[in-house]
Amino acid sequence: MYDELASLVAAGGVVVLSGAGLSTESGIPDYRGPTGAARPATPMTYQAFTGSEESRQRYWARSHLGWRRIARAQPNAGHAAVAGLQCAGLVVGIVTQNVDGLHQAAGARDVVELHGALDRVTCLSCRQISDRQDLDDRLRAANPGWTLQGLPLRPDGDVDLEQTHGFEVVDCDACGGLLKPDVVFFGENVPRERVQHSFALVEGARALLVLGSSLTVMSGYRFVLRAAKHRIPVAIVNAGPTRADALAAVRVDGALGGVLTGLLPRIGSLA
Ligand code: NAD
Repeated sequence: MYDELASLVAAGGVVVLSGAGLSTESGIPDYRGPTGAARPATPMTYQAFTGSEESRQRYWARSHLGWRRIARAQPNAGHAAVAGLQCAGLVVGIVTQNVDGLHQAAGARDVVELHGALDRVTCLSCRQISDRQDLDDRLRAANPGWTLQGLPLRPDGDVDLEQTHGFEVVDCDACGGLLKPDVVFFGENVPRERVQHSFALVEGARALLVLGSSLTVMSGYRFVLRAAKHRIPVAIVNAGPTRADALAAVRVDGALGGVLTGLLPRIGSLA
């Protein structure tokens, strides 16, 4: 299977669809892998976030502490290999479900961040996009006593903190509007043009390479369905089963860092 994967990628025109499994080797947990953390029974929805001050306080207290870990996370060998394949001209598009910015940190370009990114903040009133670090500075200044206390990081980039009463939320410094991380919450749709752009990339691909995603979420799975519909071969590298295994032409079950690091030399030996 490894040789089939190398042959498929060596032919070029590959579009990557990545998921949380690509970042577990950087210390960011996924939901459904062996090191995954179960999704909370009631995840924060857009409606809850915008509808109550208490929900925003809970979200920002947990996310503020989790951000310290996300901001420190480094790209791993898997991210580096994807950037290397792009640099070699074999990967022509990257669509990620991840919100951690690690593809770009490894040197990848033109990454479509399907679900947005935690390092940007958007104002729900004036729509200004600002840097998360600026918000982090303001939140730290407003909440000097709030520390991590060894709480483990959760997949959404937050920590499991029950007591969030007293956390001071800050608003847009331009207009006083509500601030939200520039990520797609439950109850929100991925912006239409981002979805269309991703479909266009997939339809123009010679192969779709899924990396580290269970594809449980329809938001990612639909691109595999689209590839299958257009008879574009799908390769999946993932530890454990995925929802699209039956559609895959090539399936490699293994840890991404090792599998992808070995890919470039193997492609070289095919030449
Ligand atoms: P998922 O948790 O459903 O699936 C991840 C898959 O990756 C699992 O099947 C797991 O076994 C596999 N995996 C874990 N570590 C691996 C490794 N080192 N090598 C190979 N495979 C490995 O994740 P998903 O399908 O991406 O869906 C989760 C949703 O939550 C996405 O929409 C995403 O936006 C969000 N999310 C993002 C992050 C992030 O930005 N890093 C982290 C968690 C969740």
